[in-house]
Formats: sequence, C-alpha cells, structure tokens
Amino acid sequence: ASFSQNLIPIVCLDIGGTLTKLTFATKKGFILNCETIEELKIITENEDYEIHFTSHPNSLDVLIQKLEQIGFIDDGKSNIQNFYITGGGSFKYYDQIQNYGNIIRINEFDALKFGFKLLDSIKYKNTYFTFNNDIENLQLTASIYPFILVNIGSGVSILKFDNEDQFARISGTSLGGGMFLGLSHLFTGINDFDELLRMTKQGSNAATDLLMNEVHLGFQSPSRNKNEKHVAVSMGKLKQNPNINQSDIVKSLLYMTTYNISQIAFLHSKLHNIERVFFSGHFIRNHEETLQCINEAFSYFSKLDQQNRHPYFIKHDGFIGSLGSFWNGIQ
Ligand code: ADP
Repeated sequence: ASFSQNLIPIVCLDIGGTLTKLTFATKKGFILNCETIEELKIITENEDYEIHFTSHPNSLDVLIQKLEQIGFIDDGKSNIQNFYITGGGSFKYYDQIQNYGNIIRINEFDALKFGFKLLDSIKYKNTYFTFNNDIENLQLTASIYPFILVNIGSGVSILKFDNEDQFARISGTSLGGGMFLGLSHLFTGINDFDELLRMTKQGSNAATDLLMNEVHLGFQSPSRNKNEKHVAVSMGKLKQNPNINQSDIVKSLLYMTTYNISQIAFLHSKLHNIERVFFSGHFIRNHEETLQCINEAFSYFSKLDQQNRHPYFIKHDGFIGSLGSFWNGIQ
C-alpha cells in the first residue's frame, strides 16, 4: 500500500559512531504500526505533527526492518520521499539508503542548531530539567540562549550557542561514551549499555577509587566541600585490591567519565562567561545514575570556584540532531 499524499512521513536519520537515531514525523490521522520510545507533538502554522523517536546500534538491516515494521517500506517498496540525514556515520550507508528515497544531508552541527531552534520556538513545557535525586522541570519563559552544549556521544563535543543562528564548536574530549563502553566491556565482558548502567546502581566506587578523605586525612578545606565521595585518584585502589566486583568497577568508570567531562564543561562555562550549560547525547539517555553523577560533579567544580551553578538536561537529549533535520525538512 502507498500513502495518500498528505500522510507521507518525514523521516530523519542521525547516524552517529555507534547508534542510529530514527526520528519520524507523522501528521494527524496517521495510524502507527509500532511502538516508539518517545513522542512529541509539534504544532506548526499549517500542520499538527507527531514526532516519534527510536534508536538502535548502527545496522542497515535493523533500520530497514524498523521502517518495514512501521509501514514506511512495504514489500520492498518505499513510501518515503525524502530522508533527512545527519551525523558522522551517515556517509557509510548513503548508497544503500538512497534506494529507498532521496537523501538530503544536513551538517551535524547545523542539525543541532535547528534542533534547539525548534525546541526554543515551541517552548515545550517539560523539555529542560535539573536533576538532584529527582527531576525538576524548568519552566523557561525566556529564550534559552546563550548556552554551552556538552554533547556526550561516543566522543564529546562542546559547543557555544550565542543565539539561534550563531554557534561554534569550542572544545571536546575523546573521553566520552565510547570510552566508558569500551573500558566497561574490557573489565566486565558486558556489552549491553543499559545493563552496565543498571550495575552502577548497585556499585560503589569506594573499593576502587582513592577518595578525597582518604588522601587528605583530617584535612578540611572549606573549598573542598568535605564530600567524601569525591575522587582523588580514579582506580587508585585497583593495585591493592584486584578482586573487585564488576558493578564497583563500572561505577568507578561512570564517575571517571562524568567528572572529567563536567570539569571541562565547567571551565568552558567560566571561560566564556556563560552560565547555562546543557548536557545531551545518547550517553545520558536520562539514566538517573548518569544524571546524578553529572549533577554532583558539575556542582562540585562550581562550588570549588565559589559559584553555584548546576547542569541542565534535555528530555529528548539524544535526538536533537534528528529533530533539527525534521525542522529543516518542513521549513
Ligand atoms: P554518536 O552519535 O557519536 O554515536 P551517540 O549520541 O549516539 O553518539 O552516543 C553513543 C554513546 O551512547 C555510546 O558510546 C554509549 O556510551 C551510549 N549508549 C547509550 N545507549 C546505548 C546503546 N543501546 N548501545 C550502545 N551505546 C549506547
């Protein structure tokens, strides 16, 4: 079956180093054959759209299977006119995907820019939040600009957005989600990201990391915040203590990754004098342990500098690039 003209879906793909993010927009009246992870309703001047988000590890077969399940590809015949496609991995699948529709490529940083423009323009009420043991939604009434964006994917990009059109990649680090996944796999043999994150809930880094209060015995500096959990030496106890349980190691790796990124993020926020720092990317995927670690780390470095800054998170955090491709598609 092919769709009537007014129900043709808008399909956006953000193919990263690890994951393919599939975002598609359907108009009111479209009956969906599959479940998606999240949905967002967007009302533009002319249309009401429902946007659906789903992601999977990069694989052309899985992608085609998903498009078939949804009903966008039927018996090898595609109902998709255009694929809006972004992300560093998009070149790899270009030839095969174009068998199913025209490809319109969008630079990945432009896609992020358009994504934020869209989020800012719809003022969707529960988009931004802070996290300290629990989610607290931010009710933003004014514009979100200027801000710093720390996008944690396989690697980490740090971008500065001055306004909705002006942005620059100002920094980054290779110690991101890919490193966390790689080292966790090396230590535990486990590949499944969500299982690793579940393990961090039971794990404690006290047996693996050398903590501040163990190094500076009895020494209390007002700026050190006296928080015993803060790490002086990541993996500093592994040598004395080789039989450590796997959950503890993964917890340590989560601390190591998030503290390092948060410190770099805070320094850039200070350097550029921009208070608002958003964290996004599929490494976060709204896992509570990750949100909590980033909050603790960022707040800690901020307090050391006699400031009181907290990180901000974004509900559709891994999908801003593909949302931006969609926005570009309907403009
Ligand atoms: P990229 O675009 O660079 O691939 P993403 O934003 O897709 O980046 O994030 C990739 C990272 O997300 C991985 O390195 C890993 O830390 C994390 N991640 C979250 N969920 C998964 C998953 N299901 N499978 C693999 N990695 C995942």
